[in-house]
Amino acid sequence: MDIEKILNKKILNRSDLIYLMKIRSAEDIEKIFKKAYEIKLKNIGNKVYYRGLIEIGNKCIKNCLYCGIRRDNKNIEIFEMTKKQILKSARWIYENGFASIALQSGERQDKEFVDFIEDVIVGIKKISNNKLGITLSLGEQTYETYKKWFDAGAHRYLLRIESSNKIIYNSLHPHDPLHNHNTRIECLKDLRKVGYQVGTGVMIGLPGQTTEDLVDDILFYEKMDIDMIGMGPYILHDETPMGKEFKEKVLSVDKRVELGLKMIALTRIYLKDVNIAATTALQGLDPMGREKGLKAGANILMPTATLEEHKSKYQLYNDKPGIFDSAIESKEYLDKSVKNIGDEIIYNNWGDSPHFKKKCLK
Ligand code: SAH
Ligand code: SF4
Repeated sequence: MDIEKILNKKILNRSDLIYLMKIRSAEDIEKIFKKAYEIKLKNIGNKVYYRGLIEIGNKCIKNCLYCGIRRDNKNIEIFEMTKKQILKSARWIYENGFASIALQSGERQDKEFVDFIEDVIVGIKKISNNKLGITLSLGEQTYETYKKWFDAGAHRYLLRIESSNKIIYNSLHPHDPLHNHNTRIECLKDLRKVGYQVGTGVMIGLPGQTTEDLVDDILFYEKMDIDMIGMGPYILHDETPMGKEFKEKVLSVDKRVELGLKMIALTRIYLKDVNIAATTALQGLDPMGREKGLKAGANILMPTATLEEHKSKYQLYNDKPGIFDSAIESKEYLDKSVKNIGDEIIYNNWGDSPHFKKKCLK
């Protein structure tokens, strides 16, 4: 089959995506990236939007087998940012022209946490004259909690499915009611019902994951009518069960970066108008990972604005990049590299997913 012919098709099917995903020649992979960038320009433009990411706490009730801040990792110092600290970071983000903030943490479902987040959301809205857009990435919650946070002013939510293949999902998590693939799907549906712009994503290069699984992840985004996608390579963390078991067996760094970029490109080619992040994990494996992500069709960057003193305690995986940079250094570095590849950073604009906006107009 001719790669150009497939890339020029109006609508690709599963076999086309699998074919493209399996391509190995560097020259042909470049053609895929080029096409994805073209589709980005047509549907979104060369615009890149920032989300200032604050990691607000590392206490987690879950025990995901891949994650460095899982409940059973006792080698980490627990931290929780106070409301005052979070608002201080939010003010910094606002004053630096980032129109949008993302709050992330380990998962907690207790009432104290739910009320705390509600209070913080209201506080962020207040200090920014209602201007800062708020994205949450705080895991699985009840419909009522999602609604409470939405009513307080959050409008986007990221909850990764990790893998759309239930068998893989189960291999990444303990087998108990707290780690359940169906619950995660129900949460994504609840988020949609409440009215959020819904984001999900997967880890790429997981043990046992096939090309077909990755393509099915893209089809899952379509089926769930997802607005924003944040996905990146799986990276080992030494203090986790998977980090120990797969130390010698995980795909090479180059292969995981290649797959990560191909996933961005094929998602852009297939879904066209969604927001796609070039994630920190991609940069974790390749110093130019985020720039390459933008060239392969991504349009969102999430520079970390977590307080200096806490960054090293929020290590989801080994050698998480940026932890020794100050927030301002991260921003300046990103400004420069985005310009270098020909994209433009848009300040003071929420950068909502065009996919979501179109739905609102229907
Ligand atoms: N507790 C929340 C948010 C923090 S974790 C949640 O789980 O949704 C955010 C994301 O980090 C996870 O969805 C997962 O995809 C990613 N992550 C965790 N450990 C990782 C690892 N070892 N390699 C790559 N990504 C990882
Ligand atoms: Fe907790 Fe999220 Fe890490 Fe799972 S991935 S252990 S829920 S922080």
